[in-house]
Amino acid sequence: MAFLYKSSAARGQIWSEAFTRLAPDMPFRTWPDIGDPADIRYLAAWTVTRELLHGLPNLEVLFSVGAGVDQLDLSQVPDRLRVVRMMEPGLTDGMVQYATFATLALHREMLHYRTAQTGHRWAPRPLLPARQRRVGVMGLGQLGTAVLAALRPFGFPLRGWSRSGGDVEGVEIFAGSDALASFLSGCDILICLLPLTDETRGILCRKSFDLLPRGAAIINVGRGGHLVEQDLLDALESGHLSGAVIDVLNIEPAAADHPFWSHPFILLTPHVASQTQDESSVNVLIANIRRHQAGQPIQGEVDRARGY
Ligand code: NDP
Repeated sequence: MAFLYKSSAARGQIWSEAFTRLAPDMPFRTWPDIGDPADIRYLAAWTVTRELLHGLPNLEVLFSVGAGVDQLDLSQVPDRLRVVRMMEPGLTDGMVQYATFATLALHREMLHYRTAQTGHRWAPRPLLPARQRRVGVMGLGQLGTAVLAALRPFGFPLRGWSRSGGDVEGVEIFAGSDALASFLSGCDILICLLPLTDETRGILCRKSFDLLPRGAAIINVGRGGHLVEQDLLDALESGHLSGAVIDVLNIEPAAADHPFWSHPFILLTPHVASQTQDESSVNVLIANIRRHQAGQPIQGEVDRARGY
C-alpha cells in the first residue's frame, strides 16, 4: 500500500519527510516515479490526467492539495474513487487574514486613498461607523464561517448565504436561490467564498450587482469563474459599485493588458488569499488516510454529484 504525490517539488520534500516520521508503513512516491502502479492506494495532486487515474488499478482516494476540486475534471475520475478536498488550519488562517484585510480596506476606503496618494491629494472622507456597513458572505463552509467569525468583533452587521443555510452566531442567514435577492439587497460589502460549480459559475454578474445597494463593493476570493469580469467593469464605470478586491481571475496569470491591473477601483492580487501550508496540511492528510483505513468518514470528502 503506497501513497503517490503529484504537485510542487518543495511541498513534496516536506511531505515525504513527514510520511517517513508519521506514517512509516506507507511508502511515499513522487510522480512520475510511481514504482509498481498496483501499490498505489492514495493519490494527492492538484491536477490529474485520465491516463494517470486509469493506470492506478488499486487507487481508492484522490486528495486535492487545494481547498477546491474545480481544477479536477470529475467526469474523468472513475466512479469508485473517493475525492477529498484540502481542509487544513493553515488555509483557513490565510483566508481569514485576507478577507478581513480586504473588508477593512474597502470599509476604510483604501482604494480612494491609494488614488489620492498617487495624485498627491490630501483628500479625507467621513468615517462610516462599522454598524452602518453591512457585510455579506456567499458560502458558509469551512472558510466562509471562519471569515464571518473573524469579522464579528468589528461590529459590521453580518449576513450569510448558502444552499442549505444553518446557524452562524451573530449572522443573519439566507438559504437557497430564492433568498439570494434579499441577501444581496443588504450587502454593502459582498464576499464570495463559494466553490466553483455549474450552479455558481458566473454568479457575480450584472444581475447580482443590480441587486446590491448602490455604492456596494465586492471581494472575490472564490474562483475566477464566479465573476463576469466585464460586468464588474461596467458596474464600476456606472458607479453602481464602488470598488472590488479581486484575488482570482478566469485566466491566471492575468494578461499584461488585463483591465484590472490599472483600474483605480480594483485591488488585484495573484491568487494568494490563502495557500495550503505544507506542514499543517500533511498532518491533516495522514489523519484522513488513517480514518479511511479505519473505515471512518474522511474529512472534506466531496459530494461528486454536487461538485463540492
Ligand atoms: P466548503 O465546501 O466548506 O463550503 C462551500 C459553501 O458554499 C457551503 O456553505 C455551500 O452550501 C455553499 N454553496 C455551494 N454551492 C452553492 C450554491 N449553489 N448556492 C449556495 N451556496 C452554495 O468550501 P470552503 O469554505 O472550504 O471553500 C470555499 C471555496 O473557497 C473553495 O471551493 C475555493 O474555490 C475557494 N478558495 C480560494 C482560495 C484563494 O486563495 N483564493 C483558497 C482556498 C479556497 P451548503 O453549506 O449548503 O453545502
